[in-house]
Amino acid sequence: MDPTEFQKQAHAIADWVARYRATIAERPVMARTAPGEIKAQLPSSPPQSPEPFDAMLRDFETIVVPGITHWQSPRFFGFFPGAGSLASVLGDYLSSGLAALGLSWQASPALTELEEVVTDWMRQMVGLSDAWSGVIQDTASTSTLVALLCARERATNYSLAHGGVQSVERPLTVYVSAHAHSSVEKAALLAGFGRDNVRLVPHDEAYALRADALRDLVARDIADGRTPCAVVATTGTTATTAIDPVGEIAAVAREFGLWLHVDAAMAGSAMIVPEMRALWDGIEGADSLVLNPHKWLGVVFDCSLYYVKDAEHLVRVMSTNPSYLQSAADGRVKSYRDWGIPLGRRFRALKLWFLIREQGVSGLQARVRRDLENAKWLEREVRAAPNWRVLTPVRLQTVCVRHEPPGLDGDALDRHTLDWVDRINRSGEAYLTPSRLDDRWMARVSIGAEATEREHVAAVWALMRETAEP
Ligand SMILES: *Cc1c(COP(=O)(O)O)cnc(C)c1O
Repeated sequence: MDPTEFQKQAHAIADWVARYRATIAERPVMARTAPGEIKAQLPSSPPQSPEPFDAMLRDFETIVVPGITHWQSPRFFGFFPGAGSLASVLGDYLSSGLAALGLSWQASPALTELEEVVTDWMRQMVGLSDAWSGVIQDTASTSTLVALLCARERATNYSLAHGGVQSVERPLTVYVSAHAHSSVEKAALLAGFGRDNVRLVPHDEAYALRADALRDLVARDIADGRTPCAVVATTGTTATTAIDPVGEIAAVAREFGLWLHVDAAMAGSAMIVPEMRALWDGIEGADSLVLNPHKWLGVVFDCSLYYVKDAEHLVRVMSTNPSYLQSAADGRVKSYRDWGIPLGRRFRALKLWFLIREQGVSGLQARVRRDLENAKWLEREVRAAPNWRVLTPVRLQTVCVRHEPPGLDGDALDRHTLDWVDRINRSGEAYLTPSRLDDRWMARVSIGAEATEREHVAAVWALMRETAEP
């Protein structure tokens, strides 16, 4: 494709996206695709000859789009908000247009330096001290894996330079809550700790990890000849937005020399409003931290920020330094390849930079506050309705609810819950994700798509009542 043709098609695509976003509320939120339905419409082998771009766009519209669940719909209340703000979409587009690979500072100096600037802006925006330095990773899953690798290497005095984890005499143990995200256990397994050494710490009635129980488990492991290595605290768990007590956990971590990683993938975005920061009180006692601007904040996927206190340690764990990657500027500049796993990096900083500048900190704060207030409003409505229950404290933008008609419990109640949620989803009017809590199904109403206003929350609540109440 030459630049002239590109210009023509890019205009068509910009028009398409603008129209899509402007009319998104009219589309059924959940894709009503049957498994295999999309594949069946596509040729099983690639075209031998070039095809016109118009044909691709046509197929995109008729085959692909019907298989999309519309995350940016104002009536999307599933999973978590992935608010892909249009300013960030444009930043991502420019990044693709430049198509530069940040292998090193030299490979595109602006790519590195803008990343330094925006990660530091975000550090200030969420109220972290200047003891932290940040890097952009693809996902929280990667950030947490990197954190546990760093924890492992600190506890073993850089075993990777010798016999690796296979050479440690005492098993290393990791502590998480049963409500931690599945990526935490995955990271622990991939980092070589082994399932036998991942401890599930009991939680309290608000689903928060209990620091006293953590302390007991750590003490027992030490008595049994193991080496406690790391604890992962979650600020805002995925199912219920539970808040682990970071300060109390940090005190245990300090006492026993554990690495403390804080997973604030979702809730981290809320910390741009100062009144929310009490939720991660004690954060300065952590060693590492992840937050995902590609969730609630509104950067289009992917953009996960990983912050560490000891950047030198991170670099020592992650760096390899072959001569073809060295340059005269090394030592005076950052080499982000040594701050994570991949060598090549996308210019992700652009989309975060665009979002922050287009909205201003005050604009982003206003949106977070709007969503928090909408969640509180819904909580009040649900509490006031007969036979409806709010199941967990509403700390952020997610409301966990159940409709419990008299005489319905156990499996029959589960069937009722799954049935009304499914009917809402299939109606296309709104999208919710059910989830299990204490072995029972519940419905999560996760608020925070950029387009979601109070009227949409009121509409989904009316729909919930209409659908669930016979
Ligand atoms: C979303 C989420 C994750 C996983 O995020 P990815 O970036 O998709 O890996 C991890 N932890 C929490 C608390 C989350 O909300």
